[in-house]
Amino acid sequence: MNKSDSERIATVLEKKGYSPASNINEAGLIVVNMCSIRQSAVDRVFGLSQKFTKLKTLNPKLKIILTGCILKEDKNKFAQRFDLILNIKNLPLWSKILIKPKYGNNFLAFVPVSNGCNNFCSYCVVPFTRGPLVCRDHNEILKEAKEAVKKSFREIWLLGQNVNDYRSPADSSINFAKLLKILNEIPGNFKLFFISPHPKNFSEELINTLAKCEKFGKYLNLPVQSGNDKILKKMNRNYTVKEYKNLVKKIREKIPEIRLSTDVIVGFPGETKKQFENTIKLFKEIKFNRAYIAKYSPRPGTAAYPMKDNVPLTEKKRREKILMKILNNQSIDLRNQ
Ligand code: SF4
Repeated sequence: MNKSDSERIATVLEKKGYSPASNINEAGLIVVNMCSIRQSAVDRVFGLSQKFTKLKTLNPKLKIILTGCILKEDKNKFAQRFDLILNIKNLPLWSKILIKPKYGNNFLAFVPVSNGCNNFCSYCVVPFTRGPLVCRDHNEILKEAKEAVKKSFREIWLLGQNVNDYRSPADSSINFAKLLKILNEIPGNFKLFFISPHPKNFSEELINTLAKCEKFGKYLNLPVQSGNDKILKKMNRNYTVKEYKNLVKKIREKIPEIRLSTDVIVGFPGETKKQFENTIKLFKEIKFNRAYIAKYSPRPGTAAYPMKDNVPLTEKKRREKILMKILNNQSIDLRNQ
């Protein structure tokens, strides 16, 4: 999502007459589009801001803007270091003037369908930094996707923090499944992908639609986050491991060629070795094609923030390694089949 926002910000700036600098020392304007999902990302922006202070002494006319996902606490800390801090929610990144964004490469086009989230998973900053879910008019999405196909983009990636909560503001009967059906009708040689759905409301209608849409790229990122029910409850994910497994079963029955990836957090507050073993078990059972493994990092303002971050970093790394090993072994098995 941040990558897509950056592409759109660059498009606006180019329309205003800016062109990319050959290197950072020659820039007259720097826009930092930050992410707050983990503390390490925030720390990187702090590191960069020190570099910018030096650049400003060499070029006093240099302007530096900060945008993206920024927590209130960090906004106050960054205020001294940037000329302007813009709330990403308030930027007109989807407006009609941007219907032809310049995508970062010639192969895949990121097309946002919604922004923000109403789910409040206990570890996540998105509902605070991006605000509640706001969906984009399906006509605008269709127009942008058609334009991308016309320009020979082979992959259209629909983006949203929780795509299966999508409802078109122009017609509330158009949910995410119906949106996919509409996009599937665009003539041309391309594939449709999307990130990310939430397992709790992945409907039968959506599964059936995916099975029928010949443009669907047969790849699905289905974030599980943990293989233990107690941890899932503490994460406020609103599904159980059994429900997740049933969902995967249904999806695989309808779309046998599907490639599955997942997101998982290791070392959530209070996650015991035994509870982590359930995640190992789930990984062995589901045999994901890929997984994005995050070591838990407390984020201010979230419901999990007051919980004691009591899994040491060394243990988080150990758990991450175990899951990586399972994935690597399984991908060798799949290659040998
Ligand atoms: S559904 Fe995703 S974006 Fe929304 S709160 Fe949960 S993790 Fe964050």
